[in-house]
Amino acid sequence: MQLRPFNIKRWTLKIGLALVAGAVVTWGVAWGCVLLGTDAEPEPIKYTNRDERKPRLAFVIAGRGYEACSLTGFEASYLPEAPEQPLPAWAVWPEEGGEAMTVLVGWPWRSMTFCAQTRTGGAIFDGWKFSTARGPVGLPLRVLPLGFSLSTLLAAAVMVATAEGLGLARRRRRRSKGRCERCGYDLRGLVGACPECGAA
Ligand SMILES: [Zn+2]
Repeated sequence: MQLRPFNIKRWTLKIGLALVAGAVVTWGVAWGCVLLGTDAEPEPIKYTNRDERKPRLAFVIAGRGYEACSLTGFEASYLPEAPEQPLPAWAVWPEEGGEAMTVLVGWPWRSMTFCAQTRTGGAIFDGWKFSTARGPVGLPLRVLPLGFSLSTLLAAAVMVATAEGLGLARRRRRRSKGRCERCGYDLRGLVGACPECGAA
């Protein structure tokens, strides 16, 4: 088998395309995680309200590809058995007396986020909201740089490896049948370069 020379231009293009496609896949997976939601049950935990220094209830959800933390205005005495736990570092705090729900989505790494909160002056949602026949849908628009990069790299690596593997298998199959590795032209009985594409 003849090794093809390493072509920097070709590989730059290939990797660039794979990264763009990987980013699209990562974005799509994140939105898919929102649309599919999660079966994970919200777990109540206690936290101390920052402004009033009062114990309040929060709910955390840890599902596959979907994590959420909701800081409620409920007093913790309402669910006394809820364990006292530190809040996730990414949880957005509400204004005094308000509520905030932060959602992180993406797989295998959380790559996008949105937050919905009530505050004086109305509700705030930093994602993209639209209505469908089945009701309103909110999708995240904010990227989590580390998780988005890692998921994009992984998706790109899988795509490049798959394409390379398929190409290698095709060249091997053509060679075993006595055909040109590059274009598939039947080379049986011929010597030298391929008359169809010129490959050596
Ligand atoms: Zn050929």
